[in-house]
Amino acid sequence: MVRIVAKFGGTSVADIERIREAAKRVKTEHDRGNQVVVVVSAMAGVTNQMVSLTDQMSSMFDAREYDVIVSIGEQSNAGLMALALQNLGIPARSWMGWQIPIHTDGIHGKARITGIETDELERRLESGEVAVVSGFQGLGPDNRITTLGRGGSDLTAVALAGALKADSCDIYSDVNGIYTCDPRIVEKAQKLSAITFEEMLEMSSLGSKVLQTRSVELAMNHGVKIQVRSAFSDEPGTFVVNEDEIVEQQIVSGISDSIDEAKITLLRVADRPGIAAGIFGPLADASINVDMIVQNVSEDGMTDLTFTVGKADLNAAAGLLESNKEDIGYGELIRDPDVVKISVVGVGMRSHAGVAQKMFQTLADAKINIKVISTSEIKVSVLIDEKHREQAVRALHTAYGLDGD
Ligand code: ASP
Ligand code: MG
Repeated sequence: MVRIVAKFGGTSVADIERIREAAKRVKTEHDRGNQVVVVVSAMAGVTNQMVSLTDQMSSMFDAREYDVIVSIGEQSNAGLMALALQNLGIPARSWMGWQIPIHTDGIHGKARITGIETDELERRLESGEVAVVSGFQGLGPDNRITTLGRGGSDLTAVALAGALKADSCDIYSDVNGIYTCDPRIVEKAQKLSAITFEEMLEMSSLGSKVLQTRSVELAMNHGVKIQVRSAFSDEPGTFVVNEDEIVEQQIVSGISDSIDEAKITLLRVADRPGIAAGIFGPLADASINVDMIVQNVSEDGMTDLTFTVGKADLNAAAGLLESNKEDIGYGELIRDPDVVKISVVGVGMRSHAGVAQKMFQTLADAKINIKVISTSEIKVSVLIDEKHREQAVRALHTAYGLDGD
């Protein structure tokens, strides 16, 4: 007997028929004698609809009420899933976040989980009952409903799996696994049988929207084994695990691309101590995340500085810098939204040299100009013109030997 947390994403519980199909998967596990906790998302589109209603009612909304409204889709789906299971003869009961409770801090709209009480859940699981838990919801210190940020049902699932010491946390959605790159771009993309937490974290934060980034962080910290798999087929998905559980570790596991990038260049900045702080301070104060940064060598005490922000932040960031132009002291600001960040990710980089060089050479051979480079222990990223996106991803996919048949 094993203990499983099975989380169903919005498309896999998008209507009555799909909830029935999802319930059959749960029944299969239950029939095997396994203990199952089901975590449900809202029906696809419902959360967005609720966010929109909130916005229409008041644009400067009270986040406590936002949470009451947007958490509704998970509530009804938990009830519907419990009924679907009961129809199949399985004892099942729904649980809202506050009933368990899943305690969180008081940051409404993107609360963090601070603790989960599992005694009653454990008791019910031992007795063979399936617990159906509303994803995305928690209970704040003010005794009110909180939500865990968009995509937060993944976090509910991983946190429950951790607290219940589940053997596996299965994330069912319309995606059947994690690929070496976006299969819509590269036909020869291959599904990975396993990927490490760290690689997944890089991939999540780089834009592959399969798992909420915070849920991967939590899984890594608590050693929760995740399987990303399709709700519509029986084939195994991709396991997200510790490095030592992967038998044949590749040097590079995947290539990811993010078009959610924009580049800002400041020309003729006076090269003196405090200049970076002067530029990035106002951006940090405005909660604008800066990602890649390069500063040129200075000539005659003047330098150029280039960095990237999220596309949605481009105008705000540029506006802030323009209004602080006198204080910062620069010649000209150039904005460029037509860029893409391409990254090569793999834990094998730690022990193998030449990964970055291969990337640069491959792009050079394809006559693609690199604008900015950044690296971490397990990732090399470059910023290039958006028009070269597909060509670059394809060339790199081939160069690192990732092409399938
Ligand atoms: N329904 C919520 C959202 O769309 C939570 C989730 O599905 O993970 O963000
Ligand atoms: Mg999701």
